[in-house]
Amino acid sequence: MPSTVRSASIENPTPIIPDRFYSLLREVWGFDSLRPSQHAAIASILEGRDTLVVMPTGGGKSLCYQAPAIYREGMTIVVSPLIALMKDQVDSLKQVGVNAVRIDSTLTAPEKRDAAQNIRSGKVRMLFVSPERLANPDFVRFLDGNEVHTIAIDEAHCVSQWGHDFRPEYRQLSSLRAFFPKAAMHGFTATATEKVRLDIIDQLGLKSPRVLVSSFDRPNLTYRVLPQLDIEEQIRGVCDHHRGSGGIVYCLRRKDVESVTDYLQRKGISAVGYHAGMSHEERKLAQEAFLTEAVDVAVATVAFGMGIDRSNVRFVVHASIPKSIEHYQQETGRAGRDGLPAECVLFHSVADEITLKKITESSLIEAGARSEIISASRIQIEEMSRYCRTPVCRHRALVEYFGQCYENKSCGACDICLGDTDDVPDAKIIAQKILSCVFRVQERFGVNYVVEILLGAKTQIVLQRGHDKLSTYGLLKEIPKAQLRDWVYQLVGQGALELEGTEYPILKLNADSKAILFGDAEPRLIRNATNSTAKERRPAASPSEALAHADAALFEKMKVVRRNLASEQKVPPFVIFSDNVLLEMSATRPSTLEGMLNVAGIGNVKLNAYGRTFLEVIQEHCKATSVEMDIDWKQGQELQSAKPRPIRVGGGTGTKSITYPMLREGKALEEIAERAEVTVGTVVSHLLDLMQEEPIPSIDNWLPIEQQKIILAAADAVGREKLKPIFEHLEQAVPYEQIRLMLSFERQQV
Ligand code: ADP
Ligand code: ZN
Repeated sequence: MPSTVRSASIENPTPIIPDRFYSLLREVWGFDSLRPSQHAAIASILEGRDTLVVMPTGGGKSLCYQAPAIYREGMTIVVSPLIALMKDQVDSLKQVGVNAVRIDSTLTAPEKRDAAQNIRSGKVRMLFVSPERLANPDFVRFLDGNEVHTIAIDEAHCVSQWGHDFRPEYRQLSSLRAFFPKAAMHGFTATATEKVRLDIIDQLGLKSPRVLVSSFDRPNLTYRVLPQLDIEEQIRGVCDHHRGSGGIVYCLRRKDVESVTDYLQRKGISAVGYHAGMSHEERKLAQEAFLTEAVDVAVATVAFGMGIDRSNVRFVVHASIPKSIEHYQQETGRAGRDGLPAECVLFHSVADEITLKKITESSLIEAGARSEIISASRIQIEEMSRYCRTPVCRHRALVEYFGQCYENKSCGACDICLGDTDDVPDAKIIAQKILSCVFRVQERFGVNYVVEILLGAKTQIVLQRGHDKLSTYGLLKEIPKAQLRDWVYQLVGQGALELEGTEYPILKLNADSKAILFGDAEPRLIRNATNSTAKERRPAASPSEALAHADAALFEKMKVVRRNLASEQKVPPFVIFSDNVLLEMSATRPSTLEGMLNVAGIGNVKLNAYGRTFLEVIQEHCKATSVEMDIDWKQGQELQSAKPRPIRVGGGTGTKSITYPMLREGKALEEIAERAEVTVGTVVSHLLDLMQEEPIPSIDNWLPIEQQKIILAAADAVGREKLKPIFEHLEQAVPYEQIRLMLSFERQQV
């Protein structure tokens, strides 16, 4: 029987990890410690026992197989389903001086020859391969000369049909055992229900494995679910909020990807599309643009979004609901892999849900899936929908879905706990009205019809049936239709109503509905802020300490340096240094190379390679801005003298290091846009941000005085609460941006 983390310590007192291992960790990665779940996993792996490691994205899985592989003599084979993931890892390992090799279809003939020679030399510590390649006996025999002590299987859920990304090639991996009888086999995955977990163990043939399951919670992610209204505009709102940072937008269909990408681009957001209809070459370019931070936003269909990944994704948007909670966990999991705050926004609509069910079913039928798989997929969509509609803390709901307990009362990082949603004060009465209407129509109709009766719709069919005579007819006619429908679904989500049937689901009462009708139970109904920008966003999950102390301008400068180094070496920027490392450097601002070694994530090899370059940036910046160096904020040292400007969480950073100085000089918007390689719209939004942060003496360079007067006169006439009346008053002749600029400036003068 597999044992869990808890029982592991009973059967075997936590094995001690040798000091020499920690020296290696310091030396190679610049890490001082292991996270608790990494400790358990690495101890088990060093013991050579088969292990299944279930850890959320960003938990640090790769270190669990990389560090033991480097610590021990011999070779570790790492199986990974995606070339992009392998490439990143091999690039990163090479950066820290590790002999790692990948063999995949993208290698050129000379590269293949080099790799083969390297493997034959017996010096390779880690070999990354795809499962297909290992299914080839010739290839496996070729490896035979090496002492393979470990086979690490990344994304191990791909082996299970119950997982969200089944790959038949994974099924053959268990046969590797015959070739490498002495090797231990370990599986790694971010998402696994009990069922998937057992299936992985079974399919891979793990021998009395230790199963280590960490908490599924991702405290650095803020989850929000919002009703879909003007979806493109809503997506733009999220992208705008995070301007300059990386994000992923998931769409249901290819055509949605195209229209959303187009819309965002027109609005001046640097976005790129990614879907199955694009050629291999186009996809590769899109992926590279995102990875190298040449573009901020990747818009993708879910099926093809897997390779779209980088550690500093600050937001993930779901333009419609995902196929299951597992998918949601996996897809949102790509946000904030570096542990820094990130936001996940899901826009939900009934129409999309129906489309999704249809698409999923027909593709399953086409693939010849059994009926139980088809009905499982339907149930999964319904579970996802219930998640969207239930007013329960999102962190709690997700963690509990995966069978774990959530200890916190409030997470402080979801729409429900942050109070984005308002509790409806007379929820009980509204719920009773809805439920009695279901009763009056004899539990024979679906959501839309019940809503029509409650709204008092005078449709022919209602009149024909005489339902306009019902006591519940028109009982909630003051409520907007979309809102009412949402409340009905919220009741379903809480289990206070049932939806039966699949083609035309019918509303049915149950014991809970009766308890509410008799006044014995209190339902909860919420009203969403109507779009993501309707309410002032509160900060996402508590920012890391480094973030709180970081010097924004220095961080931006270092990002530029990192991008240049990365493009010289043809690797993604985060392979050089993660955002965490840059943040910590911009918080502590070390003045010496030794000081830099204290930054988590800087080991000796990277210090030698890049230390001096970054040191110069820091020294120059601190001198120019008279900001202190060698700050030890971990010891609670007060920041004295000149305080750096702090970074706004998830706020638009990016090109501001270029636009801000020019804005301060009052340069023309077009000129700034051209120099910073952004649109004029972006420059204006930077200007608006800048005005929030510091006083601007005049806007005359950007908005002619005559124009300013016109806008102010209109504002005097119709008020300053909202922009729209001003826009209308000016007969839509003055762009919103100018109005916003004028009012912001005016506010600043007060
Ligand atoms: P996963 O593969 O589980 O998604 P990663 O291996 O990408 O997670 O690690 C996530 C982040 O955490 C990376 O930025 C990595 O450098 C960092 N990290 C991993 N282990 C540690 C550690 N022991 N100390 C500090 N940072 C760590
Ligand atoms: Zn919460």
